[in-house]
Amino acid sequence: MIASKISLTTRMRSELIDITDRVRGAVDQTKVKDGICYVVMPHTTAAITVNENADPSVGRDVLKAMDRLIPWDTIFEHAEGNSPAHIKASIVGSDKAFIIENGILKLGQWQGIFLCEFDGPRQRDVFVKVIEG
Ligand code: ZN
Repeated sequence: MIASKISLTTRMRSELIDITDRVRGAVDQTKVKDGICYVVMPHTTAAITVNENADPSVGRDVLKAMDRLIPWDTIFEHAEGNSPAHIKASIVGSDKAFIIENGILKLGQWQGIFLCEFDGPRQRDVFVKVIEG
């Protein structure tokens, strides 16, 4: 089974975008009842995380804390000038794995899957690969 791709355009320099429903849709298309779902970010200035999706202020606080840790006005060597975004992407990580049970993507009650944009706005892809078993 080939991986599916979620494509979207981010709107801000930094934002968290809830992609949970789109990942669920990709899982549903496979008809797999039990297995593992990998969500993979193929970019170097964006990342994948899991966090609360009930209160949108949680995502904003995550971004605020990341900006305090790695301020944009810090001088780095990378000539493109977006080292803070590369560093944030490395800290957060580029992939997550999820359990699929009885056709349901198992997440905690308050959990959502987020694309973390750290150097937008840009066109972004996320790969979703489901392994049955
Ligand atoms: Zn760069």
